[in-house]
Amino acid sequence: MSSDLTDRIRTIPDFPKPGIQFRDITTLLADGDGLRDLTARLADIARPLDPDLIVGIEARGFILGAILAQMLGKGFVPVRKKGKLPGKTVGIDYVLEYGTDRLEIHEGQVPQGSRVILIDDLIATGGTAIAAAQLLREQGAVLLMALFAIDLPDLGGMAALAAEGVAARAIMA
Ligand code: 5GP
Repeated sequence: MSSDLTDRIRTIPDFPKPGIQFRDITTLLADGDGLRDLTARLADIARPLDPDLIVGIEARGFILGAILAQMLGKGFVPVRKKGKLPGKTVGIDYVLEYGTDRLEIHEGQVPQGSRVILIDDLIATGGTAIAAAQLLREQGAVLLMALFAIDLPDLGGMAALAAEGVAARAIMA
């Protein structure tokens, strides 16, 4: 889809555990042209939707989401793992391959009726994004789109999001 951006991502074998091929975007982030091109493409997709807020998922979704929010002149809201946010939170528990986890946002930071774009660096199974989407909907947000730098299509995350009625786009597969 976007070969020059894809060329700037590296794959680290056996991280964080044996058998996982981890797509590392830090090499793309460290490249000025690559970071500019990636964020310009994300902004081209997001701008016509006219969101009120960009919501980014910990941790790499903070980097892309904050840049995107700044480019669009909108606010940024972080979705964090359990226990990291200092104020009063609302959250959602979700199932992982082994065990469960919890995503949280600060209460009141995603107002009812707000038009939101959710962003993360990568979608794999879609479990994280679906949980975040559910949390946003529980707050009464209008989820315009879930946006990713990378999709791993073999893991079916985009299809799982579509099944939840969430529009989704990725820059690279
Ligand atoms: P999912 O919930 O879709 O299975 O996994 C996606 C979440 O895990 C995202 O928050 C993403 O940042 C992280 N993740 C899973 N695999 C990778 C990977 O290979 N590279 C990167 N950069 N993040 C990954």
